[in-house]
Amino acid sequence: MVITEKECKNCGRAVQLETAEPGRFADLLTRMAILCDSCEVIEEAELTRLREAREAEQKAILRERWVKESGIPDTLRDCNSTTLDRDEANAEGLDAGKAWATGHILGLLLTGTVGSGKTMCAAASANSYLYRAPLRWFSVSKMLAQARAGFKNPAREDLYDVLLNPRVALVLDDIDKSNPTAFASEILFQAIDERINYGTPLLVTTNATYVELEESYGEPIASRLGGYCQPVKMLGGDRRLAKK
Ligand SMILES: [Zn+2]
Repeated sequence: MVITEKECKNCGRAVQLETAEPGRFADLLTRMAILCDSCEVIEEAELTRLREAREAEQKAILRERWVKESGIPDTLRDCNSTTLDRDEANAEGLDAGKAWATGHILGLLLTGTVGSGKTMCAAASANSYLYRAPLRWFSVSKMLAQARAGFKNPAREDLYDVLLNPRVALVLDDIDKSNPTAFASEILFQAIDERINYGTPLLVTTNATYVELEESYGEPIASRLGGYCQPVKMLGGDRRLAKK
């Protein structure tokens, strides 16, 4: 057994090394820069800190991309549970939105009259969800207009890619009770049905009641939504008016 004494490259403290035999391995060891035990702990902590900082940075970059690609309207991108005034009327919606964003429930159906805050609540949930995974947001009336665009229209192709990809989480904002075409109902049905079959997160807002949804879009859509989504009625009056 050979004892070689070296200096810690960081603090200069003497460190004793044991090598079995003089020879190439012992030579190598004596040429290597080494750290004493306490400096090794510090270096490890520093490496962990650097790694965590790099991971956080990558996560932030990824989230920024997800937000950009999500289709959430610019006006709703800052919406989160702290920017919304919590009150009796929206508390249940905010709690359910949080459960949805964290993956505790897969389907959420926010109902309520115009201005009851369901879109804001959906936006807060979506923004929170985007810390975890990507999703796509569609305003349903806009989406249906896009779906009617001519064949070979890139916007339409993209729309179908997203709607029919069962792994993409969806927010469908504002399925209203206006009379949709058979085509619109079919598109919506497929988008919803795909999510349900694959257990993909789905958040829907509507000012229609269950009966109205059934009358406008047909029983299959209404019963699918009813079976998959936890329904929450937002009770607020018109928040937009109330704020003025
Ligand atoms: Zn040291």
